[in-house]
Amino acid sequence: MVTTKSAATFDSVNPATGEVIASFPVHGEADVGAAVRRAREAATWWAGLGWKERRLRLLAWKSHITRYMSRLAELVHEETGKPLSDAKLEILLAIVHIDWAAKNAARVLGPRRVRSGLVAVHQSAMLEYQPLGVVAVIGPWNYPVFTPMGSLAYALAAGNAVVFKPSELTPAVGGWLVSSFHEVVPEQPVLQLVTGMGETGSALARSGVNKIAFTGSAATARKVMAAAAENLTPIVAECGGKDAMLVDSDADLDAAADAAAWGAMSNAGQTCVGVERVYVVSDVYHTFLEKLRERVAAIRPGDDREADYGPMTMPSQLDVIEGHVADALARDGQPLTGGLNSIRAPYVDPVILTNVPEESKAVTEETFGPTVTVTEVTDLAEGVKLANAGRYGLGSAVFTKSRKRAVEAARALRTGMTAINAVIAFAAVPSLPFGGVGDSGFGRIHGADGLREFARPKAITRQRFSPPVNLTSFSRTDKDMDKIVSLVTLLHGRRYR
Ligand code: NAD
Repeated sequence: MVTTKSAATFDSVNPATGEVIASFPVHGEADVGAAVRRAREAATWWAGLGWKERRLRLLAWKSHITRYMSRLAELVHEETGKPLSDAKLEILLAIVHIDWAAKNAARVLGPRRVRSGLVAVHQSAMLEYQPLGVVAVIGPWNYPVFTPMGSLAYALAAGNAVVFKPSELTPAVGGWLVSSFHEVVPEQPVLQLVTGMGETGSALARSGVNKIAFTGSAATARKVMAAAAENLTPIVAECGGKDAMLVDSDADLDAAADAAAWGAMSNAGQTCVGVERVYVVSDVYHTFLEKLRERVAAIRPGDDREADYGPMTMPSQLDVIEGHVADALARDGQPLTGGLNSIRAPYVDPVILTNVPEESKAVTEETFGPTVTVTEVTDLAEGVKLANAGRYGLGSAVFTKSRKRAVEAARALRTGMTAINAVIAFAAVPSLPFGGVGDSGFGRIHGADGLREFARPKAITRQRFSPPVNLTSFSRTDKDMDKIVSLVTLLHGRRYR
């Protein structure tokens, strides 16, 4: 654990009850700097362990989290307010990712021979992906286990040490993850925790780490990028979204309505890849709306065991939701379910809005609440066009029975991920990269791309024999050059049409 120079603390609060869960230190620049220095040493040790030993320790961590899942889920429930079963779901997914990263790191990043080509035939060529050193992971609160794990597991599996700053709303969950790692890797502080608000994150961004894995809003990502620019520190930015779901006329409407209800309302809509907009083809629009209304009527927020979702984790989000609903209604949007009176802190009842103009905040900005807009379109192509019109491009979904049309639409959607006939399915496939386009960020976590994000490619050549023509020598003659030009002309000079 990081020792603290400053005496300031902050409280983690249960958003449903207002009870203080625990107090945490506000780590300042000196604390963060000390953690990064310790991480440097730990990084050398961790990298030196090699693939096999790291794999073993990461799998031990996975097993530890799996065995103590109930305890961790309780903590997630307390700090975020989400139902216990949803807490378990995000932990399950995180476990799958640790497993994949641990088991695939050597294959994806380990040394391999690559072809050297005819012109460099005398060279043997090797490629490997080396650890970067120390990675800073700055996380959000909405999925305090699953989301940072997309960076933590992959950065650790790639051989880096990590300094982790969880959201100020979920420091206890962050602390639990770090302590559990220390249980299985007690030798060195390979994964450390720093706690605090934006200033602590800012100090970490300026600390000279080798990479920053940031997950949060696009507005904060801009600040983190500006801070990172001071040291030319690369960043991966996983930001917000305004995900759209498209429903074609041949879609299974029950499945689509069920997925829209869950995609929009689960976790109180506080999901970066949650469904915030639905575009439905005209001939099934009214049937879909009715099915969605029916399903949503059975959904209820609360803090009890039967509740479908919990309170808003971050109280200030209530104002954003209210602003978006009010703006939509002022522009003649129609409430199908709920409205402004659905907002009753700390809960928000489900809101379905129709006829909302495309320039409204409820369509263009991330609402991050249990609200959804449903809009009629003439065909799938118009749905794609409207879905692509915004600044964000994180996830998306398409419902149709036609595989061809679904894949065409998926390819045309300007998002990092698309699920066909489901929502959010890609997050559970550890071999697929996860990340966005535009204001949703850049770079990827998860999968082989997620591992490479936390490694630097290293190219090595070894001269196997002296070449008949040495091009990189002052002894090279014009005749040598003529020979090589003839060879290249033969190989590459053919006309293409
Ligand atoms: P946020 O941007 O307010 O905060 C994210 C983290 O950044 C927190 O730990 C915060 O303390 C820290 N931070 C704040 N100011 C900072 C600064 N100047 N320098 C460095 N760090 C700073 O976001 P949030 O409210 O915690 O999370 C919600 C947002 O995260 C939503 O937009 C959501 O869509 C997005 N999100 C994205 C993904 C994804 O994978 N793309 C996943 C989950 C959440």
